[in-house]
Amino acid sequence: MESNSSGGEDCCVKVAVHVRPLIGDEKLLGCQDCVSIVPSKPQVQIGTHSFTFDHVYGSTASPSTAMFEECVAPLVDGLFQGYNATVLAYGQTGSGKTYTMGTSLKDGCHTGIIPKVMNALFSKIETLKHEIEFQLNVSFIEIHKEEVRDLLDQSCSPTKQDIANGHSPKVNNIGKPPIQIRETSNGVITLAGSSECSVKTLKEMAYCLEQGSLSRATGSTNMNNQSSRSHAIFTITMEQMRIPNDNSINDCMADEYLSAKLHLVDLAGSERAKRTGSDGLRFKEGVHINKGLLALGNVISALGDEKKRKESLHVPYRDSKLTRLLQDSLGGNSRTVMIACISPADINAEETLNTLKYANRAR
Ligand code: ADP
Ligand code: MG
Repeated sequence: MESNSSGGEDCCVKVAVHVRPLIGDEKLLGCQDCVSIVPSKPQVQIGTHSFTFDHVYGSTASPSTAMFEECVAPLVDGLFQGYNATVLAYGQTGSGKTYTMGTSLKDGCHTGIIPKVMNALFSKIETLKHEIEFQLNVSFIEIHKEEVRDLLDQSCSPTKQDIANGHSPKVNNIGKPPIQIRETSNGVITLAGSSECSVKTLKEMAYCLEQGSLSRATGSTNMNNQSSRSHAIFTITMEQMRIPNDNSINDCMADEYLSAKLHLVDLAGSERAKRTGSDGLRFKEGVHINKGLLALGNVISALGDEKKRKESLHVPYRDSKLTRLLQDSLGGNSRTVMIACISPADINAEETLNTLKYANRAR
């Protein structure tokens, strides 16, 4: 008998909300904090609306550490058992997605989720390396106007000297052919034509993150001139091969070979195109971005719907490049965490409410 409790066994999508503190510009404008977190409950209130999620993190204490431990560390552990996973940062431009994910060089590079994932991954590998041989690959792409672009050009593969010096050749992929999303006969999604950097150390992986972040396309809008209108996807693929050893009785890994990937996604700003108030070109980009976010919302809400999940045909992965790319890591045996990022400022109340509604649909 199936139970119909939400968040029941193996519920594949968890939703967390991250409320960042008021930042400089908002303080200068005299903004008021209009979001409150209900003490000791994963609940946020804005105006007369109240929402409950799996977790809610405010600006007190050490939100990024708690968020990592509660939401992301289990996904990193799952990789070692062969489970694919996806972490998505959703929210309007300026809400803290890049800061939360740690895809920025400016801030978040030590406290964000991706650096914490890398640390956790390599610490665990260190404890297992005598029993298991690991092969790690990293890709970093962006989806902009429904086109997939490589943020890691081949030339970015770090040489030993680069790593020693702590800098690198500049990545420039202008004019490169678009990358194709393909599906193998056993349902594995691959990216034809994207660079996959093989990495052996934490430093090498951090280097890939840094290179991709540098080359990430950004554009200016009325809201934030560093805003990104693209989805950035940093993917870690881990293969494990058991090292043959007659003495190893209590192996931690049942299979001889496992492969799993973790997608860490810094989504495009969720604000509607009209808010960017720009020219026709911007508007078109806005429409495309909405297409990915719309499809993602539909996929995640279908996954939360047990009836639809059973008839996996109804999960509309093919509606956008974003959902197509994440197809084998959303739903099924994979684990997904959506982190809805919000600003507490009253001027952002309308978008904050939209974000909370979107996130609420995901549960
Ligand atoms: P987004 O990627 O959603 O557009 P950013 O991550 O760039 O937003 O954050 C917007 C601004 O807010 C940046 O200046 C960033 O430093 C600041 N910020 C975001 N989250 C936090 C946080 N948790 N604590 C302090 N500052 C933050
Ligand atoms: Mg950003």
